[in-house]
Amino acid sequence: MTQNPGQAPPLVLTIAGSDSGGGAGIQADLKTMFALGAHGMSVIAAVTAQNSLGVQGYWELPPDAVRAQLDSVLSDIGVHAIKTGMLASSTLVEIVAERLAASDAPSVVDPVGVSKHGDSLLDPSAVDAVRTRLLPAATVVTPNLWEVEQLTGVKVVDESGLREAAEAVKALGPAWVLVKGGHLPGEPSDLLFDGEREYRYTAPRHDNRHTHGTGCTLASAIASHLALGETVPDAVAKAKEYVTGAIAAGFPLGAGIGPVDHRW
Ligand code: PLP
Repeated sequence: MTQNPGQAPPLVLTIAGSDSGGGAGIQADLKTMFALGAHGMSVIAAVTAQNSLGVQGYWELPPDAVRAQLDSVLSDIGVHAIKTGMLASSTLVEIVAERLAASDAPSVVDPVGVSKHGDSLLDPSAVDAVRTRLLPAATVVTPNLWEVEQLTGVKVVDESGLREAAEAVKALGPAWVLVKGGHLPGEPSDLLFDGEREYRYTAPRHDNRHTHGTGCTLASAIASHLALGETVPDAVAKAKEYVTGAIAAGFPLGAGIGPVDHRW
């Protein structure tokens, strides 16, 4: 998107983990924000050593380093929307939850638990802080079905269970819930719910195994569209369209699962 010369684009902040392979996390977030015409900023919560085969290790940043990054961005530049991803520990979840609760900017919380390869990206002791501190501060939370089960105990086996899942997550306090049903058989279907209104989004399934970074890209695209002034249902619709194109364009990398492509 072309910006007017001299005029600042919408400002979007990601608070998440770095992916050394460049496919997910902070790297996917910044590419998404750039592609959608926003200025992306990053508070790094953790650093992963990661490639197409999985996550070989991760290190969370000291709490003071996360607080200092937040202070630097928020005290001077400001934000129009915030996205959160991998936060690693209950201490970092609590620091971020406090800032979201104090901010007027809409927030999109991707409650990252494990990667597609099954590598844990959140200490099990932090799940409670995500449930009780982070989710109540979120404008939109974007759990997949595994995360719904981890957060609420509700297990979804087919599309008819999406509404119950959304109600269970909504009860934890976010303004909106987007339950991602992409792992169910059939056409991928997601459900957006605010306690009253329900929106369903379906997209054709692309037979492409190179889907690393899908969740990060979707949440960052929603945050970017919110920063551009869209309503939540419209931001989700446009973000779905963007991530569907990025999945279709996903490419092989290394010996394992390649990333979605942001240049389609
Ligand atoms: N690495 C980081 C830093 C992430 O934040 C995430 C997901 O949020 C992943 C890896 C996992 O990505 P995927 O499940 O798309 O492979």
